[in-house]
Amino acid sequence: MLVLDLDGTLFDTSARWHECKKLSREDRKTLFWVPDRVFWECYQSPRFMNLDEPKWKVIRFVKRLIEEKEPEVIAVVSGRSEKQRKETLKQMSNIGIETNEIVLRGEKDFRKDYEFKKFVIRELMEKYDQNKAIVIDDSDVVLKYLEEEEIEVIDAKTIAKGEKKENMNTL
Ligand SMILES: [Mg+2]
Repeated sequence: MLVLDLDGTLFDTSARWHECKKLSREDRKTLFWVPDRVFWECYQSPRFMNLDEPKWKVIRFVKRLIEEKEPEVIAVVSGRSEKQRKETLKQMSNIGIETNEIVLRGEKDFRKDYEFKKFVIRELMEKYDQNKAIVIDDSDVVLKYLEEEEIEVIDAKTIAKGEKKENMNTL
């Protein structure tokens, strides 16, 4: 089973981040900005998703991996909100990666990213009777946590930098 992250992995969302940060700053001026409720409500909505850019280097890597390993199941597991599903489906269709599942976060789901992802991945493995998953994600915290759970991970940042070598095990 292959599991893909969206924001920062298949898509560069820095423009969306930037626009939402501007809104959040208007709401309350602080010297040291940290993402707040205004920011997250904006970032986890379709509002600026048209600014997201596909990360073609990672996408090409993923497509090659799919061609070579022919995973039985391809899933997106993302911290994006359900409110973003429609735009997400459009984005996935634009980059040409077909998936069996796209799991996004429910509105009242406040679990940590890594806990949400571990839970969903375990659930999917069971549902599709898979004993192995490879996860491509850009979050160091998520990567470290899943690795500790003995799930194979690939750091999307190293793919984007071109450091990732073709030495994958079979899926
Ligand atoms: Mg990410």
